[in-house]
Parts: sequence; C-alpha cells; structure tokens
Amino acid sequence: MERRDKEILVIGGGVTGAAIAYDLALRGFKVQVVERGSLGAGTSGRTHGLLHSGCRYIADVEVARECYEENVILRRIAPFLFEKNGGLFIAITEDDLKYKDFFLKQCERARIPVREVSREEALRLEPNLNPELKAAVEVPDGTFDPLKVILSFAASAKKYGAEFRPYNEVVGFRVSDGRIVGVRVLDKVRAREYELTPDFIINATGAWADKVARLAGVRVPVKPSPGVMVALDGRIGYMVFNRLNKPGDGDIIVHHRGTSVVGTTSWVVEDPDIVRAPQDHVELMIKRGSELAPIVSKLRVKAVYVSSRPLIGEGAATTGREVSRSFAILDHSRDGVENFASIIGGKFTTARLMAEKMGDFVAERLGVSVRSKTSELPMSPYWLYFE
Ligand SMILES: Cc1cc2nc3c(=O)[nH]c(=O)nc-3n(C[C@H](O)[C@H](O)[C@H](O)COP(=O)(O)OP(=O)(O)OC[C@H]3O[C@@H](n4cnc5c(N)ncnc54)[C@H](O)[C@@H]3O)c2cc1C
Repeated sequence: MERRDKEILVIGGGVTGAAIAYDLALRGFKVQVVERGSLGAGTSGRTHGLLHSGCRYIADVEVARECYEENVILRRIAPFLFEKNGGLFIAITEDDLKYKDFFLKQCERARIPVREVSREEALRLEPNLNPELKAAVEVPDGTFDPLKVILSFAASAKKYGAEFRPYNEVVGFRVSDGRIVGVRVLDKVRAREYELTPDFIINATGAWADKVARLAGVRVPVKPSPGVMVALDGRIGYMVFNRLNKPGDGDIIVHHRGTSVVGTTSWVVEDPDIVRAPQDHVELMIKRGSELAPIVSKLRVKAVYVSSRPLIGEGAATTGREVSRSFAILDHSRDGVENFASIIGGKFTTARLMAEKMGDFVAERLGVSVRSKTSELPMSPYWLYFE
C-alpha cells in the first residue's frame, strides 16, 4: 500500500501535535490534526518561550544534551523564529555558589558550550541583575514566540498535505475487535458531530492525554503539573536570567518584546481544565524574581498566566519537580487497542525530536521504512499557515 493511503489522525494542536503532523506528512502520510481550541490553546501557548540550552536540566546530562542538540537544530532549520540572546545563570547566595562547580562539570559532560563571566562583565551585559551576584555563567539559551513556532510547524506540515482542524474536539471513539474504527469529533463552530476513520490515531493532547485516552478505554500516566508565570510591564534585559541553582520557584526571567516574564512554580493537579494561579504563587514570583533583578518589585504586573506540564508518572511524586522532564511514547496495542498511541512529557524545545520518534514508531507499526527529514530541511515561515 502507498504511504498516501495511510491516514493518520493527530489529536491535539499544541507544539507536539503540530511537529508530529510535519514529521509524518514529510514521510508521505496523509495527516489530519484536530484541536479542540485554536492551535496552541493548551500548554504550548503559555510557556516562558525559552529555547532551552539544556542548562536548566543539567542534573540529567542526557536530558540536557537532548535540549542543547534540539536548540542547535531548531536555530538551523528556522533561524527566523528564535532570538539569539543567550542566557546568564547567576549565583546570589553561598548555596548557589556551591552549585557552580557541579553545574560547570555537568555542562562539560553534556558538551554544552558555557563560559564563566566575571561579576563586572555580567553587570555590564545586564545592568539590571542583582549587583550582589557572586558568580555568573553565560549559556546558549534563546527565546521564541510560542504561537509563531507552532504555526511554522503547522505551515511546514501543510506544505506536505496535512490538514488542520482547529475548534474540532474528539468526543469519543468507536472501538471494535481491539481497534479504533471511528473517531467522533465535535465541530464546535458549526455545532455538528461527525466521524473520522483513520488508520492510526496519535494522542498528542499533553496534560489532557489521559482524559482523551479514557474515551478509548485505556489510561495514560500523565501528571498535569501547572506552573504560574508573571508578565511584567517592561523589558529589563536581553539575555535570559536564570538562578544558578537546582530548578526551583521563581528562578527564571525571560524577556519578550516589551515584557519580562518571571517563572515559575510547580504543583500537581488531577484535571488540567480546573487550574487557577494562586495569589501566593504570584507574590513568590515577585519576591524570587527580585532576588535575580531587584527592579522586578517596581514593575507593574501586566498579566498572570498558568499552564500545565504533561509530566510522566502516576503517584510518583507530589510536587512534580521530581518527575522526569523527558518524554514517553505509549503503545496502546499493549492495552488492547492496536492502532492508537499517546505521547507525553518533553518540552517545547524538544517537540521536533519527540515528533521524529513518534514518526519512527508509526512508520514501523505501519510497515513503512522512510526516515525523518525534519532535522535537515528548512521550516516554512509561520505566516504560510494562513495561505
Ligand atoms: C509554566 C510552564 C512553562 C514552560 N516553559 C517552557 C519553556 O520556556 N520552554 C520549553 O521548551 N518548554 C516549556 N514548558 C513545557 C512545554 O510548554 C510543554 O512541554 C509543551 O508545550 C507541551 O506541548 P503539547 O503539544 O504536548 O501539549 P499542549 O500544548 O497542551 O497541546 C495539547 C492540545 O490538545 C488539545 N486537546 C485536549 N483535548 C482534546 C480533545 N479531546 N480533542 C482535540 N484536542 C484536544 C488541547 O486543547 C491542547 O491544545 C513549560 C511548561 C509550563 C507548564
């Protein structure tokens, strides 16, 4: 059978779903994406917008290296999407300073190019940093506008024939003889329900993955882990400000256009549809953010937003910080549903890699031997999504 005859349905139009659509369309599959809101309506539309250098996850050399490699690939295939501003990790306390040696050793092990800079140079580069800083390390962080990246993946997928259906929500599956034989979709704009009959279905609904999987009678061990971000009125730096410590609350400030975003916190919820930003988290962001850059406490809060990480693991932890940042593909043929798989975990920065692995998985399951090319070809600009 020709690859074109194999229809794949991707559920979820976040960065993971859009990147998967691109990978599969480029391999020659017929791809449709259904998204219950607009593209990026879930977690992907509400992140720090940090293109990780990997240094934030440096305790896990493999995860850190994975981030750095994707950082390099994305800048190469879509240089128009990423601000090459770099980042600084700064030590403020003696405890931070103790972390520095471990941090530098791990960066070397992960082969991430970093450079220790003097206090004077750090303050010359970024005068709004805490003048009491004790050490600083420059890292290859970057920043991006999440929506533009998602639309670029989608535009690239559309170039190879993929179809995107925003405001179309999966509301049920028809399962027969261990296969999904029909996917019930609600078109929320036209207020009508219809059925799709794809050969293979990918559940890329992030923090909602278990809710969607349950509709097919299977479970996904996703742990929705929200985090609060506070957008301040005013750009107080060019580089990303990070605290030189193990990832914790309020230890990062990312600058976008005229805004500085302080993040984040981490806790675990049952239902990603019922999440509010607790006021004490907002106050904590201001307090901790002021330690990185004292001017934070003087700026007006422009917006507060919250979204949920699709972390892996069930009953493993209570705060979400202990759970792996890496990703997992779940083959539901093991649960008795042959043509269904879910993908959870990961980061925005690693979406292309997650899509490549999912593409490999689907190709193998459908007996097609065509490799991923997304790391080699330039991506389409985001505005082509609307053509
Ligand atoms: C506070 C915070 C800050 C972060 N900052 C960064 C960062 O700076 N850099 C970085 O690399 N990573 C960051 N991350 C991680 C990153 O944002 C996520 O890992 C990533 O966005 C997840 O993308 P996704 O496509 O898997 O999920 P989502 O973006 O959540 O996409 C899933 C989609 O599925 C849709 N959906 C749900 N149910 C249905 C249904 N029944 N039918 C159809 N569609 C459905 C949802 O509407 C949603 O759009 C951050 C995460 C958090 C929580």
